[in-house]
Formats: sequence, C-alpha cells, structure tokens
Amino acid sequence: MDSTANNPIDLYDLNYQQLTQLLADWGYSTYHAGQLWQQLYRQRVSHLSQLGSLRPDLQARLASHTRLGRLAVLAEQQSQDGTRKFLLGLPDGQSIETVIMPYRERFTACISTQAGCAMGCVFCATGQMGFVRHLHPGEIVAQVLHVLHVLASSRHPHPLRNIVLMGMGEPLHNYDATMTALDILTDDRGLAIASRHITISTVGLVPAIRRLADEARPGHLAVSLHAATDEERNKLVPLGRRWPLAELIDACRYYVAQRGRRIFFEWTLIAGHNDTPTQAHALGRLLHGLDAHVNLIPLNPTANFPGRGSTPADIRQFKAILAQYNLPSTVRQRKGLDIDAGCGQLRKRSRQPAELD
Ligand code: SAH
Ligand code: SF4
Repeated sequence: MDSTANNPIDLYDLNYQQLTQLLADWGYSTYHAGQLWQQLYRQRVSHLSQLGSLRPDLQARLASHTRLGRLAVLAEQQSQDGTRKFLLGLPDGQSIETVIMPYRERFTACISTQAGCAMGCVFCATGQMGFVRHLHPGEIVAQVLHVLHVLASSRHPHPLRNIVLMGMGEPLHNYDATMTALDILTDDRGLAIASRHITISTVGLVPAIRRLADEARPGHLAVSLHAATDEERNKLVPLGRRWPLAELIDACRYYVAQRGRRIFFEWTLIAGHNDTPTQAHALGRLLHGLDAHVNLIPLNPTANFPGRGSTPADIRQFKAILAQYNLPSTVRQRKGLDIDAGCGQLRKRSRQPAELD
C-alpha cells in the first residue's frame, strides 16, 4: 500500500479534466497534467515515488497531497479453466472481488462497483451479504490496473480485451463514480480501452437506464432480466416490485431508440424457476421488436439459495423457443465454477472463519 495512504486525494479518482483542474489550481499547465496522466495510465507507475520527468516541485506537491489508491491482494483463487479470482482490500478494511476470465486468446475482467449490493437478488452471493458501500471511481479503476499488472507479469503481453461491470454491486446505483471510472478507462491518452469492449450490467434501475440513454456514455448495456413475468421476477429480483417489467422494458426500448445500440439481457437459468417453456415464450413476446441479445447463464450455486442450474436439455429447449421469436441468444459458459467465481462468493468464504469465532 502507498506510504501516502492518508492523503485525501486519490489520483485514480480523477478523470483527465479533473486532474487538469487540480493541477491548474496549483498553478501548473495542461502540459504537466498530460505528463502525469501518461505516467499513471501509460507507464502505469504503481507508486508516487516512481513518477519521473515531472518538475520536482510538482512531484513534492503530489507526494504531500495525493496518493495512488492501489488495492491490496487479500486472497487469490485460480480455476482449472484459467479463471483467476482476487479478493482485493480497500483502505477502510472492506474488500471486493475482481475476476479475470480467459476467452480464446484474450481475457475479460469482471469488475466490482460496490462493496456488497443493496438489490438483494435471492440467488446472488453479493445480494445475500447486503450493501456495504459505493466504490470510489479510483477503486474501480484500480481493479483494472490490478488486472493489467497481473496479466503483464504472466505470459500474456496484451491480452485484456473486455471489461464487464458484473462483479460485486449495482453499477447504476453508483452512477457517477462508475461513469467517472469509465471516462478514465476509455481516455485515449491513457488506457484507451475501447468503448465497445465495456459492458455495464444492471439489475434494471429504470431512471438510471433512461439517464444512460440520454448521455453519451461508453459501453454496452446489459440488463439482468431473469424472468419475463412480474410474478416470477419478483421472486428472484426484489427490485422488480419497484419497477415492474413493463416500465423496465419501456426504458430499454427508449435506450435502443436513443442510442441506436442493441441491448443485452442476462438470464441466470435456475432449474424449475425460469427455464420453463412458458418463461421462454413470455420472453420472446416481451422483447418483440427490440434489438436484443439474450445471454443465458446457468446458475452458479450459492450457499443461501437452494436453486440449481438448468440441465443442458432444458437450456437447449429454452434457446430453441427464443429462436422461434427471432431472438438471438448465447449460452455463456460458467467460468471458474470450481473456485466459486460467482460474484460475492470469495469474499463470503473468506469472512466465514471470522463469523464462526
Ligand atoms: N448488479 C448488476 C451487475 C453485477 S451481477 C446486475 O445484477 O446485473 C452480474 C451478473 O451476475 C448478473 O446478471 C447477475 O444476475 C449474475 N449472477 C449473480 N449471481 C449469480 C449466480 N449465483 N449464478 C449466475 N449468475 C449470477
Ligand atoms: Fe446486486 Fe446484481 Fe447481485 Fe442483484 S445480481 S444482488 S443487482 S450484484
């Protein structure tokens, strides 16, 4: 951890414009901000003492007023399929999970946006632990820097392709911090991660989806639907009672119309709950005419939910029914099953000994 950890300003919290403003307040020009930005996100220095070629007075000021909020690795698990899962420590003692999943020659990073989650989806380990706090932008960015560091020190020189905000937490419940983090990740002068390689996943916060539709933000949108009738969805996703499907799908239609972009729908397949032909037909009808793609993900079992993932035969049947409605779908492989790679599961396990005391 940084020796300047007590300094209030985490440089990773600031997008380019904010960093430029901070330096301008101190009397430095944009040129210096650009130099610093490059060192943070091109050279990716891991400690302020590694900053080179800055004016010494600026360097001294940074050392006394700012910090680099790198995250401590508290635990790591590696799956047989190459998935690596990290439990990362935040300065206040909280922890979050970040997962790296191999996909062909490239990797996808699954990033958290909150410690815990307030949404309470019954099958989700993060939902089961409740809300702890929002992450700051820098804590989202630092996860990506951690992933890049891990990959750079292994055999793969440039392998990070996709970033999915599908770790712990609900990104649109932490809207501003998430968007600042996306500004930083996509900035051409630094990490330059392509917008099309980023996916924001939401449980369906209707006003935030509408806001996202109105703002030119990076990333694809994925909406975690899980059921196509309110009755079934409300059993799985408590937020459904606040925003029923009709309102949610309206907001999705608005998003597609405003942005001209397809929406992805996530569907965690739970045997006997939402993998029935009735649900598949209801989904086909619900998404009629919408530019949509459905990702089917068999349930990753969690300790506090008795459901099981669907059988391959039921998944095939579900997919075939969607095809009758011209609704494209992909069955997403479950990665890292042997290491409980479902979000929230590593943190839960690492806390268990304390709970037993
Ligand atoms: N809060 C956001 C993003 C984080 S969850 C959201 O809900 O979309 C990312 C995805 O993981 C969601 O689609 C969620 O439904 C899914 N998920 C959560 N727990 C799961 C589990 N045990 N098995 C399979 N998918 C799960
Ligand atoms: Fe929160 Fe997403 Fe888990 Fe639901 S599935 S509890 S919204 S993290």
